Amino acid sequence: MAARILDGNKIRDEIMHELGDQIRELKAAGIRPGLAAVLVGENPASQIYVRNKVKTCESLGLYSEKIEWPGDTTTERLLGLVRDLNSRDEIDGILVQLPLPPQVDSKVVLEAIDPAKDVDGFHPVSVGNLVQGRPGLVPCTPAGIIEILRRSGIEMKGARAVVIGRSDIVGKPVAMLLLHNHATVTICHSRTRDLPAVAREGEILVAAMGRAAFVTGEFIKPGATVIDVGINRLTTEEEVRRIYHHPEGVLAKLREKGSVLVGDVQPEDAREKAGAFTPVPGGVGPLTIAMLMSNTVKAARLRRGSRVAAKA
Ligand code: NDP
Repeated sequence: MAARILDGNKIRDEIMHELGDQIRELKAAGIRPGLAAVLVGENPASQIYVRNKVKTCESLGLYSEKIEWPGDTTTERLLGLVRDLNSRDEIDGILVQLPLPPQVDSKVVLEAIDPAKDVDGFHPVSVGNLVQGRPGLVPCTPAGIIEILRRSGIEMKGARAVVIGRSDIVGKPVAMLLLHNHATVTICHSRTRDLPAVAREGEILVAAMGRAAFVTGEFIKPGATVIDVGINRLTTEEEVRRIYHHPEGVLAKLREKGSVLVGDVQPEDAREKAGAFTPVPGGVGPLTIAMLMSNTVKAARLRRGSRVAAKA
């Protein structure tokens, strides 16, 4: 039987609808949560990401500010900007779009963000809160993955979960969230021995490695829930033919659009062997911005807690 597709767009819409209600409630209490998005330089992908984030804020009725600085900005100047945003009451969330230009010390800049406004959840204080299970701001993509599992009725409690990838942005935080949800978690990486056999133990398998269609059928336990975090762009017919068993449809799309996206999981194998899986595009991706909006609302509630109860 073909696997159930976990529709990230539908779940994103559900979350946005709920956020709309919360934002109206906050507005009635005189609070309009605000997000500042900082973009340095002219990376085209970053420009699109930031534009989408700001547009989404506007559509939800959040206050937003896009701050664009030239590519030769220094660490010192950025630190000044972050300190200014930290001190402004109408700003609840500060997002510094990565990657920053090479002359900027990204770590120092991210650590300068007030943890109460750290809507990306990358600050060491946010990481500590996550590890200790304290209320705080959780990185958006991992939080989105948990929303997909929860809202799709996938039982995490007691499940064997395998995460492939140990980055600070995806692998480690999603493993920690699965653990908090009472899964038994294994984290894999490039030095893991016999990766397919370890992956096959997962009733929940999260692939976050950045390798196009690396996770094939031999990695997937029959009936498992497969969460594909990877976003890889294919631009040649060779790549498509190498990856797909039945490449015709994808080749047609490639010829029409010039490129196609594939995750870290071979999608035909996932459809055949998994019980449920997230497609690429349209799976995990749409949740990331929704969770950023959710974090901005959460930051406003936590920070202005005296005026409105925090829903952590
Ligand atoms: P990183 O490159 O930071 O981390 C990749 C991880 O995968 C590393 O831990 C690495 O292991 C592991 N890995 C790489 N190759 C192998 C291999 N052959 N076998 C086993 N493990 C391997 O990537 P990110 O975590 O930032 O992102 C992962 C993917 O998710 C990317 O495709 C990215 O584009 C996508 N992404 C998608 C988002 C979304 O919104 N959907 C948001 C963020 C990321 P080691 O540590 O040993 O090097």
